[in-house]
Amino acid sequence: MPKMMMETAEKKVWMNVTANQCPGCPSNLATRLVMQVIFDILDDEAPIIFGQGCGIGRDFLQRSGLGTHDSACAAMRTAMEIRGIDRPIVVIDGDGQIDMGLADMATAFQQGYKYLHVVCDNQAHAASGSHATGSTDLLARTSVRPSGKVRSRKQFPLMLMFSGAEYVATASTSHPGDLERKLKAAVTRLPAFIQILTPCNPSWGYDDDKGIEVSRLAVECGIWPLYEWKDGAFRRASIPRKATIRDYIAPQRRYAQATDAQIAEMEEYVRQQDSMLSSLASGFNA
Ligand code: SF4
Repeated sequence: MPKMMMETAEKKVWMNVTANQCPGCPSNLATRLVMQVIFDILDDEAPIIFGQGCGIGRDFLQRSGLGTHDSACAAMRTAMEIRGIDRPIVVIDGDGQIDMGLADMATAFQQGYKYLHVVCDNQAHAASGSHATGSTDLLARTSVRPSGKVRSRKQFPLMLMFSGAEYVATASTSHPGDLERKLKAAVTRLPAFIQILTPCNPSWGYDDDKGIEVSRLAVECGIWPLYEWKDGAFRRASIPRKATIRDYIAPQRRYAQATDAQIAEMEEYVRQQDSMLSSLASGFNA
């Protein structure tokens, strides 16, 4: 069992529960883990945590507005520089930002603004009806696509890898040791981006206590690959393929309509994704 941060008399668990999140919300768990690692390693530097999202906290963190967290970061970083202030900035938000803030984020990274952006990716606009985002996996049923016609998701960490990021990674709350290590690597390599898979109980349609299990199945069947881009090298985590696509979709009602042919399509998608990531790992192996 990987070591993860637990509350002790000396160490606080950072809570961000102000919005009646669903029991077992993986985005809420991820936010707590991220905040705990960040405050653990950067507390002396008074980090500024910024952003919002359905399971992340809708009214606790400071925020600038939907889709504008990255331009706000760039403005804050500039204002702080003018005033001679140097504090770490961390954005935590959801995958809606990948659609609504795409231009801001890619441009802020390309221009080298120093901050860490963490996306808790639940593949849905969960706070406003669970319609699809640019991160929704193919064939998942969403509120506006009940027949599951979603196409493959944006490979957003890879887009940022080629847009000036010093560090990008994917992570999952089912692998907390890996997440903790990646957060520690990211804070010294800015601008940095981490996308954490955080399933959503009502949007994905699994039982409230199954969030971590569904995350683990996503990693173990290969549809959510864990990788990082660091110091000029692209590396994939070595995760045994212990689960199949059928195992992964079984607990999720958003795939209840999936036919054998569609499952085969998802399996082919995973094979193509594997091949593309392996090519990156052999091409960038500094
Ligand atoms: S709707 Fe989804 S993201 Fe929002 S609190 Fe519930 S489980 Fe979390």
